[in-house]
Amino acid sequence: MPESTIAAISTPKGEGSISVIRISGGGAIAVAEKCFVAASGKRLSDMSGYSAAFGEVVRRDKTHIDEAVALVFRAPKSYTGEDVVELSVHGGIVPARECLKCVFAAGARSAAPGEFTKRAFLNGKIDLTEAESIMEIIGAKGEAALSIAKSAKEGKISRDIEKITDKLLFAAASLAAYSDFPEEDIEGLDGESFIKMLNECEESLIKLISGFEAGQAVLAGVRTAIVGKPNVGKSTLMNMLSRQELSIVTPLAGTTRDIIEKQVNIGDIILLLSDTAGIRDSGDVIEHIGVERAIKKIQNSQLVLAVFDISQPFDDEDKKIMNLLKSKKCIAVLNKSDLPQKADLSGLAGFDTVLISAKNKTGYSELSKEISKVCGTTGLSPDDAILLNERQYSCATRAKTALSEAKEALTSGITLDAVTVLIDDAVNALLELSGKRASESIVNEIFKNFCIGK
Ligand code: GDP
Repeated sequence: MPESTIAAISTPKGEGSISVIRISGGGAIAVAEKCFVAASGKRLSDMSGYSAAFGEVVRRDKTHIDEAVALVFRAPKSYTGEDVVELSVHGGIVPARECLKCVFAAGARSAAPGEFTKRAFLNGKIDLTEAESIMEIIGAKGEAALSIAKSAKEGKISRDIEKITDKLLFAAASLAAYSDFPEEDIEGLDGESFIKMLNECEESLIKLISGFEAGQAVLAGVRTAIVGKPNVGKSTLMNMLSRQELSIVTPLAGTTRDIIEKQVNIGDIILLLSDTAGIRDSGDVIEHIGVERAIKKIQNSQLVLAVFDISQPFDDEDKKIMNLLKSKKCIAVLNKSDLPQKADLSGLAGFDTVLISAKNKTGYSELSKEISKVCGTTGLSPDDAILLNERQYSCATRAKTALSEAKEALTSGITLDAVTVLIDDAVNALLELSGKRASESIVNEIFKNFCIGK
């Protein structure tokens, strides 16, 4: 159990109705008591867990800082599993900072990023997948993302991983027992039921792995390119997508002046749209995107919305673009459907197509459905365990590879020791996923990405 008492401002730095200073550790109540005087005269150390007191935060020289409500949590029934006091002061940078200074002067030290959650993990309150789900809840980009993250917080991934791990541990133990006592009947080790158990584990892992990409479309977003020759309506489509009421349209960090990225919610999915045409503030650039540029955009994207003007016959440039899309996750967006159709659509056989009029804003829900279908999110359910990030995905994939190799080794008559080693590899990858056997450096890496105060 970490001994030092840590503190940080847990609310965003800025003006709001309240700011919360969180203090955690064996000395949390003693520290808070030096800074907080309850109006009732009651001492924090006499209060039970889950109780609150109104009063004021005062410096050592008894000068008043702000009115506050102190919330007391007693170990282990707190976020971190330690004693915790949360002081809620008026929401403002100065009251929160002055209160925090006072808490430091009383003996707490500054919490590192994610340290409260790291302590919750180290104290066995949550596993790594649950800790990571907290980050996803905070950063959720839409309702579906929130519901996936909440399900992970409630232990959905942990439970599925634990079930597979337990079966594999049993398998490894049975094999070890057989190696030691080959003449005995070992429970669970008759050929058929053993293979069946490994198959079940493999299937569960395949299910987890195969839902990852669709989950990422909801949680992290899909890098999407809108391509097409000039004047087909790319900018108008971009505007139609961006102006949907639910869209969060924000320039993303790291973008250059030339390429602006917009985050657009369409159904459950987040499209990360990068384009130059139509989204420049000045609006003075009508960009003529040549085939060269389309190639680059297509390469860098996970999904392509290829726009075609069906009020004109398709020409060579349209056909060149169609050819570029053959091996890409792509939707052909047939625009200007409000005008008489002159294009022969047979060239688009094999493409997923949607008819829209970007100008009249029709076809949005059909486009939304098609995007869901292409990105695989149509059947996505928060009742299923959905891996949250690359780390989890990589552990699950390692476990699946080791397990498949173990099965192969078993049927090809390789020594049982080799099979046991491979099953152990699979177990280790799963224990790393849940954090039950993750190295300190992995754990540190995860929590350093949290914000201070979380
Ligand atoms: P871009 O060069 O591909 O970005 O094309 P724009 O979005 O700038 O559109 C080119 C022209 O087509 C503009 O005059 C738009 O108003 C028009 N346009 C775009 N979408 C539609 C549509 O659905 N119907 C009709 N009739 N005109 C459209």
